[in-house]
Amino acid sequence: MSTQTFPQTFLNGRVVVKVGDITAERVDAIANAANGTLLGGGGVDGAIHRKGGKAILDECRAIRQSRFLNGLPAGRSVATNAGALPAKFVIHTVGPVWNEGKAREEELLQSCYTSSLELAVAEGCRTAAFPAISTGAYRFPKDRAARIASEAIEAFLNKDTSLKQVVLVFFSEEDAQVFLNHQVFSS
Ligand code: ADP
Repeated sequence: MSTQTFPQTFLNGRVVVKVGDITAERVDAIANAANGTLLGGGGVDGAIHRKGGKAILDECRAIRQSRFLNGLPAGRSVATNAGALPAKFVIHTVGPVWNEGKAREEELLQSCYTSSLELAVAEGCRTAAFPAISTGAYRFPKDRAARIASEAIEAFLNKDTSLKQVVLVFFSEEDAQVFLNHQVFSS
């Protein structure tokens, strides 16, 4: 089997696929695979709050109290500051928990990407990075997630001209490879 080298690019360089830790990305906005409480959790959520510090959590608490008393629903996104991280914003998005495809999970995952990109543009961002939302603790199959993420991102970039680059950051080379094998970017 040949070894892929990263980063790889799609759509004339507007999409970059790489391996790394999203908390280190120097982009305008990074997406967080949050849970509905917005109060932190494991995985990428834990890493973002650990490295970003208290300012992010404080803004998450304020958002809960003012707009989402019962938590942020799956498929929805909110933006906060990025605290000590190199990014300017963290876009917290709640992925669906995989339940054998019986609970509109595909539609909700697509909505995570689309609503996060809409918020990034609304905040004036030119660059945004995503982790593989829902594919960790929430167990969404990585092959299906690759198709949905690439479809949602390409559809968004076809309509939007302000966002220059979307970076997809995978935590392992194996995960990045699964993405490459199942993505459906047109070029
Ligand atoms: P979810 O609950 O939405 O499944 P997780 O954080 O458990 O979220 O996992 C989502 C993906 O993020 C997984 O593929 C996991 O390997 C990856 N991940 C975990 N930490 C990081 C990180 N620091 N940077 C990028 N990706 C990460």
